[in-house]
Amino acid sequence: MMQSHLQGVGMTSQRTRDRMIHRLSEQGITDERILHIMRTTPRHIFIDEALASRAYEDTALPIGYNQTISQPYIVARMTELLIENKESLSDILEIGTGCGYQTAILAQLADNVYSVERLLPLQKKAKAHTELLKLKNIRYLHNDGGWGWEDYAPYEGILVAAAPNEIPQALLEQLAIGGVMIIPLVNQDDGTQSLKRITRTESSFQIQEVEPVSFVPFLTGKE
Ligand code: SAH
Repeated sequence: MMQSHLQGVGMTSQRTRDRMIHRLSEQGITDERILHIMRTTPRHIFIDEALASRAYEDTALPIGYNQTISQPYIVARMTELLIENKESLSDILEIGTGCGYQTAILAQLADNVYSVERLLPLQKKAKAHTELLKLKNIRYLHNDGGWGWEDYAPYEGILVAAAPNEIPQALLEQLAIGGVMIIPLVNQDDGTQSLKRITRTESSFQIQEVEPVSFVPFLTGKE
């Protein structure tokens, strides 16, 4: 693809990206590594051309197949929670690749990213997007992410981008001791969702509630 497409013009230009970063800092994102990576990663290439001019708005946008790309604030916030207090990360497991934007951000912070998506056409798009950015440390799996990805476990970080009713057992098992999982969970009493941060210790899992969120549902099986 042409270099100019990667750089963007008008509503997809560096200036628009800089405004997004400014907004993220106002919203409380402080990790300079994340702000830098989101400043330099073109978000518009992950979105269909008809919507590309809205790529840097603070909103979720449709990516087809009834799914959405997460809003910039949520991507930044989840990433921040995942890497907090860590200098570097080795292996990260992502469940719900979608269009691959979050994957691309994670790939610039970790040695390896393993990303699982249940919808094959979306996984193919994500692959094409991250190839365009020449990111080579990502592996993709087409499967129900409820099973995690055992081959490369344990993971220092696990990030889930769809909301289940409860934390899949396999994901807890594949989290390294000292590792962190960021996951939106459906509250059983009223159907709302809360973002949780789960830390695995030698003997238990510590659960911390972060903030209310709104994700697409975590579905079983693959298509
Ligand atoms: N971070 C992504 C979010 C996409 S939306 C982005 O910004 O593009 C959430 C994604 O999770 C969807 O693509 C959906 O198909 C996927 N998903 C839902 N349940 C899943 C499951 N059990 N296993 C794997 N992927 C799942």
